[in-house]
Amino acid sequence: MRNQTPPDTAADRAPDRAPDRAADRASVSVADLVRDGLVRADHSAALDPIAAQFRIRLTPDMRAAIATDPGTDPVAAQFVPDPREALIRPEELTDPIGDHAHSPVPGLTHRYPDRVIVHVTQSCEVYCRFCFRRETVGSDGPLPAQDLDAVMAYLAATPDIFEVILTGGDPLSLSARRIGDILARLADIPHIGAVRFHTRVPVVAPGRITPTLIAALKVRPAVSMVIHTNHARELTPAACAALARLADAGVPLMSQTVLLRGVNADADTLADLFRMLVRNRVKPYYLHHCDLARGTGHFRTTIAEGQAIMAALRGRISGLAMPTYVLDIPGGFGKVPIGPGYLTQSPDGSWQVRDPKGGLHRYDDPA
Ligand code: SF4
Repeated sequence: MRNQTPPDTAADRAPDRAPDRAADRASVSVADLVRDGLVRADHSAALDPIAAQFRIRLTPDMRAAIATDPGTDPVAAQFVPDPREALIRPEELTDPIGDHAHSPVPGLTHRYPDRVIVHVTQSCEVYCRFCFRRETVGSDGPLPAQDLDAVMAYLAATPDIFEVILTGGDPLSLSARRIGDILARLADIPHIGAVRFHTRVPVVAPGRITPTLIAALKVRPAVSMVIHTNHARELTPAACAALARLADAGVPLMSQTVLLRGVNADADTLADLFRMLVRNRVKPYYLHHCDLARGTGHFRTTIAEGQAIMAALRGRISGLAMPTYVLDIPGGFGKVPIGPGYLTQSPDGSWQVRDPKGGLHRYDDPA
């Protein structure tokens, strides 16, 4: 076992050190949002109880991507708190995807036999209002050294584990040095073949994708990234340049998008996003149905609405640009594709197949 990682120095955090000008700083409070013109002063009191419960953070990059009235803008809707977050529906949960139900050691979720999730930090560059981990993000920062040691010991002792998914929070909110240390420790475990980052950083804080970070990603386990992005407007020129730096370095890039009412819940908006991702060498991977996190009901569509959007996209954009529409079954029972389905079986055993325009066709299996 390697020595514990010492705390980051100021130099480690260089891409994110406290900037001098307010315009270069993240908005982290209701007062900041009022100052930045994203919340009306006479609306701020209604947001204080929300801010007390769920943390606020919005980077200068995402602030600049807000191009229309903040009350209706699809980027603002993801980061600016809303009084509707006070409405907790009976079906909503504090741990909607059951991270804690499958946690043999703190900081690690082991839901499927060959892969684990490691929550290497609870911090993010932005705090998304619909986050499925909104009850835990922002609280503790990096996983404590003794917990990281226990995670590494669990991984080393469990040879069935092939893939490690680094998440959080956002793993790329850690310093490049700390990320390099984690990757080096994973490289020391021979049965770990792949490491996947789930991150919003290349989009919301593209300046953090530095040559030092990219050098740290060049390790023996195959490193890939799943980029969380929900609207084409988030893919600013700086974000596209960060994605290019990663792609040029040979890091396979995929995306995950959350289906969000008021942000992207229509076929035109998603077609723009998925094509933009393909143009930037990112394979659209998952479209998540919005999880049952507390206070997020105003974002959630019905599953039937999501299926109708997916049906409208199929045949309109290429298969390369199509993600899989998935639901994390509440309670920690795993992630499953939720359609729409194109097959039904007739009583005689033959299949009815629906084409993208809605026509039905018979298909017979070998007798
Ligand atoms: S970046 Fe990811 S983990 Fe962080 S608040 Fe947004 S959705 Fe949650």
